[in-house]
This record gives sequence, C-alpha cells and structure tokens, in this order.
Amino acid sequence: MQVHSMHFKARAAAAIADAGLQRGLAKVDGFAARRALVVREFGDFESLRNEGAEIRDRSLADLAAWIERFEAEATRRGVTVLYADSGEEIAQLVIDICRRHGLGKAIKSKSMLSEEARLNEALAAAGVQPVETDLGEYVCQLAGEPPSHIIAPIIHKTKEDVALLFERKHGRPRLTEAEALTREAREMLREHFLSADLGISGGNFLIAETGSVALVTNEGNGRMVTTLPRVHVAITGIEKVVPTLEDLSTLMRLLPRSATGQTISNYFSVLTGPKGAADLDGPEHMYVIMVDNGRTNLVGSDMQEMLRCIRCGACMNHCPVYQSVGGHAYGWVYPGPMGAILTPMLMGLENALDLPQASTFCGACAEVCPVKIALPELLRKLRERQVVRGLRPWSERLGLRAWSWLAQHPSLYAMATAIGVRALRAIRNSDGMIGAIPFASGWTRSRFMPAPASGGTFRALYAKRGRH
Ligand code: SF4
Repeated sequence: MQVHSMHFKARAAAAIADAGLQRGLAKVDGFAARRALVVREFGDFESLRNEGAEIRDRSLADLAAWIERFEAEATRRGVTVLYADSGEEIAQLVIDICRRHGLGKAIKSKSMLSEEARLNEALAAAGVQPVETDLGEYVCQLAGEPPSHIIAPIIHKTKEDVALLFERKHGRPRLTEAEALTREAREMLREHFLSADLGISGGNFLIAETGSVALVTNEGNGRMVTTLPRVHVAITGIEKVVPTLEDLSTLMRLLPRSATGQTISNYFSVLTGPKGAADLDGPEHMYVIMVDNGRTNLVGSDMQEMLRCIRCGACMNHCPVYQSVGGHAYGWVYPGPMGAILTPMLMGLENALDLPQASTFCGACAEVCPVKIALPELLRKLRERQVVRGLRPWSERLGLRAWSWLAQHPSLYAMATAIGVRALRAIRNSDGMIGAIPFASGWTRSRFMPAPASGGTFRALYAKRGRH
C-alpha cells in the first residue's frame, strides 16, 4: 500500500464530510461496549495487562535470540523460514515461491503485512491470481479499497454499500440481508478455495519453543487457507515472536477481549510445520516470511515499547479521532493511535508529518491497550522529534518559542494573557461564542468556543476564588 499519510489533513476533512462513512463508523462503538463488558466479567484485567506487557517486553529484550530459536524449531519441523527487509522483498519472496512450485492462484487470509508489501498488485503482475477470503477483505478487494481497520476491514461500509457492490461485481440480483450477502460471498469463494494452490496468511504470534505460527480469526477461511492449498506462506513481523506456549495462552486471554469483546475468537489455530505422514490434510510445503520493514529501528530505542503491539485494534476503537475520520485518512496500513506511531516510525517521520498531531491526548488508547503501551507518551516523543528536526511549519515553531519565552517571564505572561482575554471577549458574538480567531481559524472552524468569562484570566479568577 502506498503511503498517503502526508495528506492526512485533507483526507480527514473529506472523511468528516462523508455522511455515508460517518454512518459506517458509528459501528466502532459496539466493539468498545463489548470490550467493557467482558473486561468487567473477567475481574482483575489489570493484572492480566501487566502480564501481557511483561511477556512482550521479555520477548523484545532478547528478540534476536528468540527469532533464532523460532527459526531452529520451525526448520526442524519442515518449515522454510525466510527474511524480508522491505515490502518489495516480501513480494519478491512470495513470487519466487510461486515460481519454484508452479503456483497460479493464491487464497489469502487477512494479513496486514501483505498490505505493507502491496502483495496483491505484485502477485497479479507476476501472473498469480490473488483472492482475499476474509469477508471484509474480499469486499475491499472487490471495491478496490484498502482495509480501514486492522480487525474490521470494512467497518466504514454499511450493509447497503456491500449489497450494491455485490450486485455490480457478481452480476446477481441485489440481496438485502447480511446473512444472504454472506452466503453469496461464500458461494463465490468456494470455487477459489478448491482450486487455489497457494494459501497466504498472517501470523498473530510466533512461538519460539515449538516453531509454530498462531492464527486468530473469526471466520473459517483461515483454516481453509492454511490447510487446503499445497503450499502455505505465513507472513509476520519479526516482533511477533513470543518464547513459550504458556506466554501465548496469556496473550490469547487479552487479544480477543480487547479486540472484539469476545472471550475467545471463533477460530484459533496453531500451525506447526507442513503436513506430516500421518496427517489427513495440510500443506505439503510451509514457509514463514519474517518481516523487518523498519522494525529493527525501534529495537533498543525509546520507542521500543511500540513493538509490544498485538494488533488488537482497541486503541482505534476508543480513539475520538479515529471514530471521526476512519482508517483511510491515516494514509497507510495502520490507522488510529498505533498507526499514528507506527507509520512515521516505519515509513519515516517526514512522510507522515501530521499523524503525531492526530490525537487529542485524551489517553483513552493507553487506558485500553492490552499490553500497556503508553501511546500518548510515544506520540509526544514524535512531536518532539518533529520540532528538533525542524519538520513543523515555521509559524508553529515561532509560536512555541514565543510561548516558551513568555512562560519563563511570569509578569509578562500575566500581562499578555490579560490582553488576550480582553481581545477574545471583544470578538465574541451575541451568544458569548467566538466565531473565528485571527490566525487560528483552524481551531474554531469545527468547534464551539465560548469566550472567556468576565473577571479576567484564569489566574485572576483563581486568586479571587481563593479569597472565599
Ligand atoms: S497499540 Fe495496543 S491497543 Fe493499539 S492495536 Fe496495539 S496492542 Fe492493541
């Protein structure tokens, strides 16, 4: 997927004005409500979050050693482990595998890494037909759109959008009920499941002690993709490795609860090697492609904790910015608070200038993150880096410098704020609201901003209150 994050502001404005998109986004609240329920039922979820964070930190502290162990165990069980440094390398490795085994059709389970690689385009260009089989991803492929949420790719679409799309693309009469639409997609996909010779999946976790890939899905397509075709390729980030099955079981108590508010996902598979002599099904060949694509830049840095992320989507489900603009506005694979950090870190801060600003710092994301990533703190660090590297507009830098100087001169600060309060009161309208502030119209364009109360600055009001 190409990086369009430089256009966040324009894309966000268009998203806010899109009534259909806003109707679709209203569904995000459902995830948050279900999460709240299962977390309450669980009891001491806080301790579980601490355990999750500790497991991820332990894995990252010795990442190279755990990757080595994973590779050794997976290889011992017949898996070929490959490494990719970039999206292009992922695509090239998959194409090489297709050529080696003479493969012509790939069925895919949901994989954000394949979005990083723009894999569908690369496969099609190499003469291999890619077919998305996760229902949401299938709709995205038909619509020619990228997913807009990491676990609910078409959260931005309504049932009516899907009905119209299916009518146009399948050439069948338009259906209206969700179940009927799902059945239609299944009928369309069935033939692909039976004729594909390559299955491509992601991997939620890699287990070092057994060399296994753990796959969490809510649709049966994951099982078909990993067992029906004769070759299976799992594509995962290098940071997904965890030491033991015991660690996996802890993380699996966190992931579905945080993601969709389920106590367990509908399907949970642990894939350990290709089909053995006694197995009735499974691929003859299994590959795992472990992807860096900028991740090692975070290892050992003050941003390392971002690599704890288990891709649950809870941060975006609770983010007021994501809920207003949806996933496409963020301009790359990962949206929401985690995307606002990952995109600049993986694709370059200069290519995603507005993403660290796409936060109100309300802190809701950090409150719900199952592995306790301090997302607002990381966003603040990125903002700092932008200022240090001179990447913010000169007017903003000048303003901050002026404010910093003023804040260090309390008498002048008091005088300036008193003048500011008077000026704001002077431009208020008859309702006591401020329509537009000169040089800061962005603040008032979409907000109701009340004029300051009579009585002066905050400090003056506070001092007066203190006397009572
Ligand atoms: S940052 Fe935390 S909440 Fe967001 S997707 Fe990653 S694990 Fe989930």
